[in-house]
Amino acid sequence: MSSLSRAPIAIVAAMHEELGALLALMPDEQRVRVPGRDFWVGHLHGQPVVAVLSRIGKVAAAITATVLLERFGVRAIVFTGVAGGLAPGVNVGDVVVATQLLQHDLDASPIFPKYEVPLMGLSRFAADATMADALAAVAETTLRDPVALLGQEAVDEFGLRSPRVHRGLLVSGDRFVSTTAESAALQRALPDALAVEMEGASVAQVCHDYGVPFAAMRTISDRADDAAHGDFSRFVVAVASRYSLALVDAWLASLSPRELS
Ligand code: SAH
Repeated sequence: MSSLSRAPIAIVAAMHEELGALLALMPDEQRVRVPGRDFWVGHLHGQPVVAVLSRIGKVAAAITATVLLERFGVRAIVFTGVAGGLAPGVNVGDVVVATQLLQHDLDASPIFPKYEVPLMGLSRFAADATMADALAAVAETTLRDPVALLGQEAVDEFGLRSPRVHRGLLVSGDRFVSTTAESAALQRALPDALAVEMEGASVAQVCHDYGVPFAAMRTISDRADDAAHGDFSRFVVAVASRYSLALVDAWLASLSPRELS
């Protein structure tokens, strides 16, 4: 079978700034409108791709994932975007590649253990190990030279001297965590959580139900503390969107036609 006739890979981000540059690389993209969402269908590096903005939050992301699976028949979903760093040493400009994802605001206790998805017996959803390994590998290579990727000005502005790649637990909830107190509480409750965002774990749950591989990688835009509002928008445009584009592009280029089939 030619790669062009295979099921597409979905690339998802919450916000528009994060996907604009990637869409510009899809010369044959076609916009398919589904109520509330635009899906861009095209090819990148010979791989069929559907790119979409989920919008912000777990419900919006879960709806998006379900449409990708039901209507576009995607064979894998990759979520990219920004997140707040939680664990010590997870700093602005670093990249977190999820190995596991959990909904930190899900609590049906005492009927079910805190964080457990009721009736699933699961609180941590595993990311696809092959995809996570490959994304972490391209991130390691890409982050070695932030000046080449972002330019000296952005590197100086955000102090991105030696960005690092971390792998581990990513937690999601319907809250922008922007106080030092809430960040500290999350770290106490979930000491191995590397970063917090608002979509990933809900998409992981949908992909788990459908048995479709899922991966998530996030650029750290803030430390989820009292300063988290800071230069958020500027950072997304100047740094995170470029990381997303470079990492997704390098990952897709690295896929052999047979991979993920
Ligand atoms: N102040 C921003 C808020 C956007 S919501 C604005 O006005 O645009 C934050 C988005 O970035 C979500 O999609 C979420 O997944 C991610 N994110 C980044 N930092 C976060 C944090 N500290 N807590 C929760 N989500 C965060």
